[in-house]
Amino acid sequence: MAAQPQIVLGSRNRKKSEEIKDLLEPHGIDVVSIADVADIAEVVEDGTTFAENAAKKATEPALKLGRWVLAEDSGLMVDALDGRPGIYSARYSGENADDESNNDKLLDELSGVPAERRTAGYVCSVALADPEGVIRLTSEARCRGRITDERRGTNGFGYDPLFLIPEYHRTFGELSSAAKRQLSHRSRAFRQLTPQLVALLTGEFSA
Ligand code: IMP
Repeated sequence: MAAQPQIVLGSRNRKKSEEIKDLLEPHGIDVVSIADVADIAEVVEDGTTFAENAAKKATEPALKLGRWVLAEDSGLMVDALDGRPGIYSARYSGENADDESNNDKLLDELSGVPAERRTAGYVCSVALADPEGVIRLTSEARCRGRITDERRGTNGFGYDPLFLIPEYHRTFGELSSAAKRQLSHRSRAFRQLTPQLVALLTGEFSA
């Protein structure tokens, strides 16, 4: 009997990993977190784009482990801040940044900016590396929204309490995980990639 396709997820962000598992497991792909597989050093995210960082986060662990690794790099681009924090979203408020301090800094930087100029987009770039470290699939997608002037809701993670989906009059902090699964940059990027991912891995794991 063919083995169920299994990939290692090159992310240590628990919330992000849960979202990715929810997106892939219904397609019969078994996803294991890198933290549960091996004690390997974190990849240095020194790329200049989301795509470069995603590729690095997939290739380096794939080579070390000799396994299929899927990684993503994501972040928030705020129009009034010329696209910042962008690839620096996780570390926006400094070395010891966390979601709280990042959200505080964003509210601070946008203070006085009117609602119509608080437009922003989440970006998610995904890369799949094979056990030789070769990138076999990539995908990138965006989700547009607007930054509120106060936190709303406690769902999701990162900037979600500040990221308003105007059509729904709710932030990702207020929307359910099912709604975020429909709309988010991450789910769009994975939806684009999943048919090829399933075909590729099914072939590899039944060989
Ligand atoms: P990465 O782990 O380097 O890709 O950092 C991604 C950072 O971007 C996270 O720490 C969040 O600050 C932000 N981010 C990415 N995706 C999301 C999301 O879906 N919701 C909220 N924040 C996000």
